[in-house]
Amino acid sequence: MTPVNILIVDDKQENIVALEALLERERDDIRIFSATSPNQALKLAWENNISIALIDVQMPETNGFELVEMLKSNSRTKDILIILVTAISKETKYAVKGFGSGAIDYLYKPLDPYATSAKIDSFIQLARYQADIKQKNKDLQNYETVVNNSADIICVVDALTFRIQTINPAVEKIMGYRPEELMDESIIDFAIEDQRPVFRRKLVDIITNNLSSSVFEFQFATFSKNIIWAECRVAWQNRKLFINISDISPQRNYQSKLLKSKKNADYGKKVKETFLANMSHELRTPVNGIIGLTALLRNTPLNEQQTSMIDLLEVSSQSLLGVINDVLDISKMDAGKFSIVRSPNNLHDLIRSVYGLLKFKADENNIEFVLEIGPDVPVHLMVDSLRLNQVLMNLLSNAIKFTERGYVKLEVLAVQKYGNQVKLKFTVEDTGIGIPANRLSSVFDSFEQADENTTSKYGGTGLGLAIVKRLIELKGGELDVTSQVGKGSTFSFVNWYTVATKNKEKAVTKGGKTLEQFENISILVAEDNFVNQFMLSRILKEWGIAIEVVDTGLKVLDKLRNNHYDLILMDTHMPEMNGYEAAKSIRGAFEEPKKSIPIISLSAASFDYEREEAILAGMNDVLSKPYQPHELHAKIRKLLTADELIRDQV
Ligand code: ADP
Repeated sequence: MTPVNILIVDDKQENIVALEALLERERDDIRIFSATSPNQALKLAWENNISIALIDVQMPETNGFELVEMLKSNSRTKDILIILVTAISKETKYAVKGFGSGAIDYLYKPLDPYATSAKIDSFIQLARYQADIKQKNKDLQNYETVVNNSADIICVVDALTFRIQTINPAVEKIMGYRPEELMDESIIDFAIEDQRPVFRRKLVDIITNNLSSSVFEFQFATFSKNIIWAECRVAWQNRKLFINISDISPQRNYQSKLLKSKKNADYGKKVKETFLANMSHELRTPVNGIIGLTALLRNTPLNEQQTSMIDLLEVSSQSLLGVINDVLDISKMDAGKFSIVRSPNNLHDLIRSVYGLLKFKADENNIEFVLEIGPDVPVHLMVDSLRLNQVLMNLLSNAIKFTERGYVKLEVLAVQKYGNQVKLKFTVEDTGIGIPANRLSSVFDSFEQADENTTSKYGGTGLGLAIVKRLIELKGGELDVTSQVGKGSTFSFVNWYTVATKNKEKAVTKGGKTLEQFENISILVAEDNFVNQFMLSRILKEWGIAIEVVDTGLKVLDKLRNNHYDLILMDTHMPEMNGYEAAKSIRGAFEEPKKSIPIISLSAASFDYEREEAILAGMNDVLSKPYQPHELHAKIRKLLTADELIRDQV
């Protein structure tokens, strides 16, 4: 507890000592100051926070009444509780004079110790209350500043009538009303007219349910009839409602704009996906035709000139397919529909086959092509061979393409091991044209090249590195590049791989002619594209298969009803009835054994979900266009063998 400061003013030191003795107490809740002259008294009163002054009336220089007047006339000392100490008779005129000058009580000499002590005690108590009130006033002033400067409306409302008792200036900014206009008005009128009963209900609920506070959002109408959204925080106490109203219209607008743009973005994404799915089909189907026909043409008698034209046709169609696949890959990555599928693979074979494929290109350009596989690099690893192949092909073809002399080197090293995990570092180094420092980061963006002349001089779409970077990141790694113009570039990336215990080695068969013949097999081909019909017929006939071709799903059902086939090759996109629906009808409405006839979906789809849709529709397998004849051969062989086994068991 802060002590109460008491000042004793008397020209006689012995009187001071006597008074001090009377004031003496056990607790040190008072602090005593003393002065023997009015001047000294004024100085002490100025310098110390005096609450009570005991002033002798008869002093030689200035009498006590004058000192009281002086203290009362100064703002720093005017609140001191003054008690006059006097030996003058108790006549009323003196008392009046003392009270008139601002004293609040008298002590008469000779001082009665008990009465004096009791009186002083009660004044100490009074001084304390006074100090307390002063502090509370200060606090109130501070709160007032906060309330007046608040951006929210803060008001006190009578809980019975809902009339506003106080409201801060923020109401003018938010609602357009001046605070004084709203005194005694109902807060309910803030609500839009037809919503007023609901607003009233909300406030009544707080009171009847005795909720100490509640928060809700509500719409109010401003003075100029604009509608705003507000968050109301209501507290209830002492028959009053204390309401804080925040204008949340900006957040609400922002929220609804965000929702709208999300809806638009979702819609845009959907449109893009549908467009991609369609484009994928539209582009890959004709390319499939071109590639297949080129392969067929190669097996016909050709002169030298025709053979070289076929070579060119093959290169062109393969590069067209490459571009289509790149665009689709980028779009699938953008749509988040791209995943890495790891399986046991022979890494050394994979790397060597990439090396072998590109070696002739390096030889053509007269540059050295070096391959170094570190001694610790495991042979069998869990790896997405398709994607690793894609990454290495991209980096190495770039290196060869942009190197006119010197060498290109592919180095694979095991840099760290942990249990059955190994961290591999792949580095592709060249002594080519290099990339300017200011283009180093943008060459990884889609459709970006190091400079404008790249396409005319070297070709390319600027998609390769964008795909490589994202593929490496999808695998959890990071692609690094260092380069110096005129000296060369080095691309490197690291990734963790799991060492594989088993390895599935694939027997690769190539070339339509060497594939084995089928016996007594008939296949129903459902395909609406004329070129693909022609190509498939030729290939299947070459393998000794009897075929019939239809171009809609409905015709598939008709044919199957009246004929026997061993297998159906079904395109997915066909007029009248598509492949999925036809497959579903066969699985649902036909009798055995036709009900379980093997069906291979021939789809130009590049999205996983379309594969899933085919399997869900009841197809046994999916072959994506463009495909190589040997892949089709393998799938037909596999399904027919499985079918035979089942029949034998039955
Ligand atoms: P593209 O090769 O189809 O143009 P990429 O995305 O693969 O597209 O490469 C983007 C650009 O980066 C290239 O056009 C080229 O300017 C630059 N670049 C890539 N690799 C190299 C390299 N090894 N040396 C020099 N420049 C390169």
